[in-house]
Amino acid sequence: MTSTPTATSATDARQFVAREHGLLIGGAWHPASDGGRLESVDPATGRPLTTLAAATPVDVDRAVGAARQALESSPWPALSPLDRGQVLLAIAELVEEHADELALIESLDNGKPVSVARAVDVGTTVKLFRYFGGWPSKLEGSTIPVSPRGGLRVLNYTVHEPVGVVGAIVPWNFPMSMASWKLAPALATGNTVVLKPAEETSLSTLRLAELCAEAGLPPGVLNVVTGLGSVVGAHISAHPGIDKVAFTGSTEVGRLVARAATGNLKKVSLELGGKSPHIVLPDADPVQVARAAADGIFFNQGQTCTAGSRLYVHEHVYDDVLAAVVDHARSLVVGPGQDPATEMGPLVSARQLDTVTAYVESGVEQGAVVATGGGRPACLPGENQHGYFIQPTVLTATDHSMKVVREEIFGPVLVAMRWKDVDDLVSKANDSPYGLSAGLWTNDLTQAHRIAAAVKAGTVWVNCYNLTDPASPFGGYKESGWGREMGRQVLEEYTETKSVWVNLT
Ligand code: NAD
Repeated sequence: MTSTPTATSATDARQFVAREHGLLIGGAWHPASDGGRLESVDPATGRPLTTLAAATPVDVDRAVGAARQALESSPWPALSPLDRGQVLLAIAELVEEHADELALIESLDNGKPVSVARAVDVGTTVKLFRYFGGWPSKLEGSTIPVSPRGGLRVLNYTVHEPVGVVGAIVPWNFPMSMASWKLAPALATGNTVVLKPAEETSLSTLRLAELCAEAGLPPGVLNVVTGLGSVVGAHISAHPGIDKVAFTGSTEVGRLVARAATGNLKKVSLELGGKSPHIVLPDADPVQVARAAADGIFFNQGQTCTAGSRLYVHEHVYDDVLAAVVDHARSLVVGPGQDPATEMGPLVSARQLDTVTAYVESGVEQGAVVATGGGRPACLPGENQHGYFIQPTVLTATDHSMKVVREEIFGPVLVAMRWKDVDDLVSKANDSPYGLSAGLWTNDLTQAHRIAAAVKAGTVWVNCYNLTDPASPFGGYKESGWGREMGRQVLEEYTETKSVWVNLT
């Protein structure tokens, strides 16, 4: 894998970005019904990048109509499981073929380094379609040994059917891979989809939709409606023609989605925020751990739901680990995502920069100490002076009364705390409304398993951090969500189970 796009793929990416982007409804591209458009901004410069169609509720209705029609009468429901799987495998092939182009589109739109977009966003998308491409032929039901009254002889079996039309709403931090987390299992199980990307970062999803069509996905099976969350996302969540809504985003908006979905009691799955504890035990190697702790928070500019944003270090190694984390933070190259030297790009938007900056200020007001960072990086190239950059930041002298410790910042801001008693540590780790993930570093197997069992989190990493795989379930405890993405568990989120009773008497 290279991280530098070839000349052809770079041209393709820039030509794609500059295009007049429409809404994908029923296999054709349309402008918004009222002609409305949204500006998409380059986060590295603050300048306009392109414009997107701003869908209206009427456009959403049309997309839902197209998805319903495809569910009932397109070639999609008639495809054999192997043929359906083959379409997903063909999507994986095409995404891989266009990896450099897609990575550059993602980097231009979101700000992240091209190398990260290539390895993580594109790489994950390929793996997801490959993994779920194998599932359609394995969605087996059961034969169940029932004991009906009256001595009847009965055959009882279950089948897993598509839930129907799925509304998928995704965020801007990993745009194409978050869309694929939903799209790949939804398609593998035979559903049709109305997908709404985040308004800040719709471009890679629009290109992915083109590749899906090229791979043989019939018209109407995937519909993409770009636009505002408060209009398009809200209409999808409440829509009576949608059978299930799959949402990834903030806990605040997740609550709105869940409430809106009660109208027709559509199924809901929610992947929400996090404030993950990253725990260091006294026997851990300070240098190795410091690197992991820094990567755990600064990866993707800290805009990762699983960011290890609360660092708890045992008092015996706290000073050594903190010194090394701070050194690492200072060494990170911050710059535009398209510069191969860049390790941390800009935040996604001016709004996100304001939010993160306000959190740092609030931390300082509440008594935290800025060990490093906290401001704009010096020495940015001229054209990046108005980009949404912030330095990797470490706050010390923090405690659980502070907003920076309690709330999700969703930026490159680490709060560090000392601990000495393991029970107190576990209660602090769990002292959060969130429960998405946790990490811990130790060679003490007993402590590792005890803490892993005691932490309320959907994922626990021991001596590693931020690993995910399409085969492994992912999701949150508490206010981090409902349901699971990936693994065989996600198949239940996209299917209804039918129990069939046949009287054999
Ligand atoms: P967000 O909640 O602001 O937006 C997410 C999506 O919801 C966007 O497409 C947005 O347009 C749409 N939306 C906005 N208002 C809506 C409404 N009223 N009804 C329906 N949809 C609406 O989140 P964000 O700022 O894009 O993303 C950051 C958040 O996402 C963080 O909290 C992060 O932790 C979370 N996240 C979670 C996971 C996970 O797997 N748990 C993964 C990535 C991001």
